[in-house]
Amino acid sequence: MTLCGWCGRPWQVKITFSQLCSLQRRRPETLCPDCRSQFAPVATNTAQCPGCGRLGDTHLCPECQLWHTRMPWQKGREYYLFGYHSLMQTYFERYKRQGDVRLAPLFQYDLANWWRTRHSLYDAVIPVPGDPKRSLQRGFEPVIQLIGDVFPLTLALAKTVTTPEQAQLNRHDRLTQPQPFRWQPCRGVNGHQWRRILIVDDIYTTGATLHQAMHVIHQAGVAAAMDSWTLAR
Ligand SMILES: [Zn+2]
Ligand SMILES: [Zn+2]
Repeated sequence: MTLCGWCGRPWQVKITFSQLCSLQRRRPETLCPDCRSQFAPVATNTAQCPGCGRLGDTHLCPECQLWHTRMPWQKGREYYLFGYHSLMQTYFERYKRQGDVRLAPLFQYDLANWWRTRHSLYDAVIPVPGDPKRSLQRGFEPVIQLIGDVFPLTLALAKTVTTPEQAQLNRHDRLTQPQPFRWQPCRGVNGHQWRRILIVDDIYTTGATLHQAMHVIHQAGVAAAMDSWTLAR
């Protein structure tokens, strides 16, 4: 018996024969089947935009076309695991705004499954930095706490200005925010040899934050292709 990380109810984890025989140590499932179906991981076998994974598009969606016009050097694609529906909004309300750090590992099973098949593709994984003031008040940095146990992170960006919380901005404001990031790699990091990197954030709303981060990395002379990953979109 194990307790579900979201609803707290006990449930029996079923381990398949192939999992039992697998030499790879898998992370334990954190959600009971009921909660898992309510969080509804995005099915990968449905039609998706080849640029950003938006459901229902089979060609590059208008939003991707716009980003490609603005940043023609950007050749990567965007990945996300869950839709940003009301249950996911509740999760982030409790985790980020109320600062319940116990919810940080809730999706580690999903993160680890995604990362297991892709880790060899990337020379670096760079998190989008949060607001230092808000992280200090909260006592932890949500993106790093959410993914840092699964993805090996390279801290290469710093946030230089305090921006209003994304949730308080409308779409136009989000897209016209001044550049909040600065290239500030930790010692020994030289991005010039990187061929492909992954930029990670927790939520994808308009894509503005991720693209601002990519822009700064590109301006620092990093020529790598940049994919991005968010937990929810
Ligand atoms: Zn549950
Ligand atoms: Zn797209």
